[in-house]
Amino acid sequence: MALRPYVVGNWKMNGLRASLAEARAIDRVAARYPQVDVGVAPPYTLVLALAEQAEHSAVGGQDCHAQAKGAFTGDVAAPMLADAGAGFVILGHSERRALHGESDALVQAKSTAALAAGLGVILCVGETEAERDAGEAIKVVAGQLKGSLVEGAAAAAKLAVAYEPVWAIGTGRVPSVEDVAAMHAAIRAELLAFYGDAGAAVRILYGGSVNAGNAVELLSVPEVGGALVGGASLTAESFGAIIHAA
Ligand code: PEP
Repeated sequence: MALRPYVVGNWKMNGLRASLAEARAIDRVAARYPQVDVGVAPPYTLVLALAEQAEHSAVGGQDCHAQAKGAFTGDVAAPMLADAGAGFVILGHSERRALHGESDALVQAKSTAALAAGLGVILCVGETEAERDAGEAIKVVAGQLKGSLVEGAAAAAKLAVAYEPVWAIGTGRVPSVEDVAAMHAAIRAELLAFYGDAGAAVRILYGGSVNAGNAVELLSVPEVGGALVGGASLTAESFGAIIHAA
């Protein structure tokens, strides 16, 4: 099944109001590639402003709480993101898992909340370097999926999975195309086992040091349906080259 390419920028904790101009430039690039779904996930403070100006790209959050509202100081709920104009949310990013102790069960609860708010979910999975060295990468990622996927065809229709090896994020290192292909095939098999036929339509993105120089090769790997991009998504020049590659 040919799926629409999906290229998403994760701005992490980067971006002030001055960055709105860069987001407009990214939106103009997206307009040139209507066959590619483009998304940008800025920090919370910029979600509303980006959503108000974006015409050709979607805007997303980088996390959300598992509850729809309540006494959770500092947190942001999925309905708030939707209300601000977000169309999707990134969940289970390795920085959330490592720095905020997020478990698969919590990621699953957050996904349920995001789906209830009508948001698309980009579910991040990936092994550490030690896990890869131990030959356990596929087992680890399969376990993350089993522990955090939300059941049902409706959930599958709103889901993308991002395979992001922890050791490739922000390091300039990327797995071999063979390893990416093997992992994406394994993720597809898990999705089909979990969702049945609906699992075939879930896009599987690669993330981890994607840049203008390696995007063509990575995006041509079987079952790589797009990219989740950190550092290289901060400028329209580099992110635009990745959108072009898709
Ligand atoms: C990420 O953090 O999702 C990511 C892929 O980062 P980078 O592209 O900078 O490695």
